[in-house]
Amino acid sequence: MKRIPVAGPWITEREVQYVADAAAHDWYEQAGTYCRRFERAFADYVGSRHAVSVPHCTAAIHLSLAALGVGPGDEVIVPDVTWIASAAPIKYVGAETVFADIDPVSWCLSAESFEHRITARTKAVIPVELYGNLPDMDAIRALADKHQIAVIEDAAEAFGSTYRGRRAGSMGDTGVFSFHGSKTLTTGEGGMLVTDRDDLHQRVLSLRDHGRPPGDTGFYNQEVAFKYRLSGVQAALGLAQVERGDELVARKREIFSWYQEELGDLPGVSLNAETAGAVNSYWMTTVVWDAALGVSKVELAAQLRERGIDTRPFFYPLSSLPAYQNSPHAAIARQQHHAAYRVSPHGLNLPSSFRLTRDEASVVAGHLRHLLQQASAADRSAA
Ligand SMILES: *Cc1c(COP(=O)(O)O)cnc(C)c1O
Repeated sequence: MKRIPVAGPWITEREVQYVADAAAHDWYEQAGTYCRRFERAFADYVGSRHAVSVPHCTAAIHLSLAALGVGPGDEVIVPDVTWIASAAPIKYVGAETVFADIDPVSWCLSAESFEHRITARTKAVIPVELYGNLPDMDAIRALADKHQIAVIEDAAEAFGSTYRGRRAGSMGDTGVFSFHGSKTLTTGEGGMLVTDRDDLHQRVLSLRDHGRPPGDTGFYNQEVAFKYRLSGVQAALGLAQVERGDELVARKREIFSWYQEELGDLPGVSLNAETAGAVNSYWMTTVVWDAALGVSKVELAAQLRERGIDTRPFFYPLSSLPAYQNSPHAAIARQQHHAAYRVSPHGLNLPSSFRLTRDEASVVAGHLRHLLQQASAADRSAA
């Protein structure tokens, strides 16, 4: 049986040609050409002054925190529900990870909960644009400015989304992107840090290259730092992808529209929201259902898997994971984050790969509809 994959890229002749050209020519006097072209094209697409290519988004978050001078004694706020990469670098720099609840509609950082978690030690906040969705960035930015908190905008899942006319990633002190093979735009593994701030840009360039100031040819290191650079061959793949950025985003939106047609009328079921001012690039179409339907994401994923359909569980609250078992902030989160603990157990990412066909979306939606109805009927007869 041919399985329906949950994620995967769209690679054309353009990508193959650029990569071949980089492998053959991005050396000697041309070394670095593809990285520079990719960074310029990406900054222009997002609408930021600067873009710095890195080996993954985790590195972009690590560099953001390091460049902002976040360290021991500082607190950084993250939404409780996100991929652990949003939060892990807080520990790398020795700061404390503080969790805030999500908004039940956008599934992103709740501005209200963020405000509640601010202390005199809060140095940064990392709003995440989950599955392409947008948080209330105006409210978050206003709170951050009022309390002098830096904003690291995690747009890893939101390439091409916009909020009040601004592209995702361009609204923070830094914005960070992932080009992992599952993401909308891919370089296999890869990432980007964007910023409008010249000071942060200069600092990041030095921090990502073992403390060498930009342009250094003297091998005379100013400090002990990191080595976080993307290769030219990967940048060539990324350049081709960003040149096709609108096409990639349009296809993601089309995939969402198929599921919307098929599932939009199911009672007790919702898909990714397009909140006020937002245009969603729908990295992954995600379904969330009422607890009353009586089935968990793990059960439903197993039933779909038997039918040849791959899904991913809605991210678990970080505060529920063994990774944060001993964190006192996680203990508070487990008690107080009602939205995170209500949404996460009843959500799945549906197959959203670039290979998905209209017919496959119907098959997925048909099974999902049937399984959810079956679960709620069983639940009623048990009651
Ligand atoms: C994928 C992802 C990351 C990490 O990206 P890598 O390139 O794998 O380091 C960070 N944040 C979010 C929200 C992600 O989905």
